[in-house]
Amino acid sequence: MKKPTKSSPTKPNAKTIVAATKLVKKRSISPEVQAKGAAALALWRKEKAKAVKKGGKFLAEWEAEQELKRAQKRTSPMMAIKAFCNECVGGIKSDITNCTAPNCNLYIYRPYQKGEE
Ligand code: SF4
Repeated sequence: MKKPTKSSPTKPNAKTIVAATKLVKKRSISPEVQAKGAAALALWRKEKAKAVKKGGKFLAEWEAEQELKRAQKRTSPMMAIKAFCNECVGGIKSDITNCTAPNCNLYIYRPYQKGEE
């Protein structure tokens, strides 16, 4: 049997093609999810067109709202807890480490606990 070389690659056999097809089908997005995404995009475009048509202050507010939504999507739960604790103690890391409120719901999740004894 002839060994494959770089200059003459062998053609994939039927089994390989079937396996690859199944893998692609498995990873592809379902039609329902695609439809949902398309509907959301259409709604977003409609709202944007409305905001652009109104223009001025309304458009600026709409863009600010969109930027806030994007920022919220980028925020992880740990980032949110860290921000909340920072605001609670006025941004002093050692105060979060030495927090004296064990009844707080965020107590076990608070950042900067490594300095704790
Ligand atoms: S864990 Fe402590 S620092 Fe964090 S929010 Fe609660 S009381 Fe404030």
